[in-house]
Amino acid sequence: MKKISFLIALCIIATIVSGQRVVKVGAFNFYPGIFQDTDSKVKGFYVDALNEIAEKENIKFEYVYGSWNDGLVRMQNGEVDMLTSVAYSEERAGYMDYTSLPLLTVWGEVYVTPSSYINGILDLKDSKIAIMKGDMNGKRLQELTDKLAITCTFIETPGFEEVFNLIVSGGVDAGVVNNTFGASKYQEFNLRSSGIVFNPFDIFFTVKKNQNRELLETLNKYLGDWEHDRNSVYNQARQKWSNGKVGSIVIVPGWIKNAIYLSSFLIFILILFVVLLRYKVKIATGKVQRGEAMFKAFMENTPAFVYIKDENLNHIYSNKMVKNVKKSTNSNELSSAKIIFEPHVAEMLEQTDRKVLNSELKQIDLQYFCKMKDREIWLHDYKFYLKLPNEKPAIGGISFDVTKLKETEQELIIAKERAEESDRLKSSFLANMSHEIRTPLNSIIGFSELLDDADFEADQKKEFVHQIISNGNNLLNIISDIMDISKMESGEITIRKSKIDVMQFLDEIRSMHVYNVEQKNLRLNIDYLPAESDAVVFVNADKERLQQIFNNMISNALKFTSEGHIQLGFRLTGQMVEFHVKDTGIGIPVDYHHKVFDRFRQVEASYTRKFGGNGLGLAISKNLVELMGGKIWVESEPDKGSAFYFTLPKFG
Ligand code: ADP
Repeated sequence: MKKISFLIALCIIATIVSGQRVVKVGAFNFYPGIFQDTDSKVKGFYVDALNEIAEKENIKFEYVYGSWNDGLVRMQNGEVDMLTSVAYSEERAGYMDYTSLPLLTVWGEVYVTPSSYINGILDLKDSKIAIMKGDMNGKRLQELTDKLAITCTFIETPGFEEVFNLIVSGGVDAGVVNNTFGASKYQEFNLRSSGIVFNPFDIFFTVKKNQNRELLETLNKYLGDWEHDRNSVYNQARQKWSNGKVGSIVIVPGWIKNAIYLSSFLIFILILFVVLLRYKVKIATGKVQRGEAMFKAFMENTPAFVYIKDENLNHIYSNKMVKNVKKSTNSNELSSAKIIFEPHVAEMLEQTDRKVLNSELKQIDLQYFCKMKDREIWLHDYKFYLKLPNEKPAIGGISFDVTKLKETEQELIIAKERAEESDRLKSSFLANMSHEIRTPLNSIIGFSELLDDADFEADQKKEFVHQIISNGNNLLNIISDIMDISKMESGEITIRKSKIDVMQFLDEIRSMHVYNVEQKNLRLNIDYLPAESDAVVFVNADKERLQQIFNNMISNALKFTSEGHIQLGFRLTGQMVEFHVKDTGIGIPVDYHHKVFDRFRQVEASYTRKFGGNGLGLAISKNLVELMGGKIWVESEPDKGSAFYFTLPKFG
């Protein structure tokens, strides 16, 4: 208790020290002017208005809540300093001072349930009517009904809220409230106005008689200000608490009404126009979007490189193909063509770009081979002059990767060259062949005729016979070669493999050729390499065909060597036996190292004439070696001799 008294004292002292005046206000339920809310705080538009005064004038308004009658009693007892919404009466003026300006003009109104029979004052006969205790409206209705001799019973309630509650509960037939309360609450209580409206009067702020002159002046001052200012706190609070309905009487002039109708119509037309416009824009946008999507899909899926370059030769548009190339090269410097192409190609492109840009060329069709960083391609590039929407010049470009086309073209060129060469070779072969066949045939015929001649001795005739046999063999060889090559072409040649003792075989070969070699003052040796000398090496091959290969190679060596020697030999390389025939002859230029294995191919035509031959021997040898599972090659230098090598699988 002591503590509370101390705190109160402290508050009073604090208030005195701060110079703040405390004014006690008698509050009652006069919704929405003043009322107690569910959080038990006193609210309403009077309270909002007083709050402004409080703030500006350093006054503290303390609300003492009770019924309307309680408020009047408290004022008389001096428990409150001020009341709100007080109607003027002589009696009240005896103990209260009124503000010179009214707060509101209010009137009484009789409310009933929606189904009530009461629609005029005469219908109140014999009815029960609820009124608020001490309310002027109730008093005035009583006086009115008395005057009109309408008998009815009046039941007093502490407040307007209770009046409405009684009507709703059926405790009374009708109830009197002021219009401010009625208009803002009748919907909430589901009631209606009976149409009985009476006693319009002003209500005022009042203060305790002769004791609050200063406060009265302050209130008058603010009421004066509020009256002239639609946006004053008081008027705004009224609008807020009455949902903009109560106390606001708006008289709308006819021309404004017409203007409103006209504007509404115009707004409607405008909205219709906007809706239509939006619809049209939507359709147009849809079209543009579809077009754009189609363009995008086309550009992103075309195998062509499509681009647009601005006047600085930077790409301002590139489709996916171009972007991919750029990405695979250098993503940091996308716009630079030099990054993608080799410098000389980039240079060439830049120059042509500038020509197109300066309208020197309206369009240009280029094909170039470019080694990009990640691949090598042939591009067919079509560039053309463009004008951008901003009127600036630009270059449009579309390129295709024509690498495959180019490769096919190259292959066709090579094939054509080959066909022409083969044709040429065949012609020269036929010319040679006629020479190669005629020479031995002529010899045979010539020597055969001489055999008949009695002038020749028997010894001489023996030589003729030898010549006839030798030329006959040559002819046979030529015919065999032709037969072999045609069999090879038709794939009819057969290989019969067997186990061949390499050393023994080479000895046989040597014996077969040594005579002819030595006749030409050359030596024919067999290389016995130390590693192989002890071991018996077998090769898995067709013996006759192997002989044929050696015969070809030794005849060539003999043919193209004028001094020195011919060496035969072999060595083991893994599972293969590598044979060789080496000579110290005229050798073969590097360019021909592969060509000599082609059919009809001879190093030079003049050689043919000098050395003879049909250009088939090595082609047949190569074919045979490959059929037996080996490889053949030559190592040679002009004037230093040749070394022919071939491999065959070892036996077992
Ligand atoms: P040819 O019947 O013309 O000798 P080949 O197919 O055996 O046919 O040889 C093709 C060509 O290879 C020869 O015409 C010759 O130009 C060259 N050639 C072959 N062997 C030798 C060699 N040992 N030395 C120099 N050239 C050779």
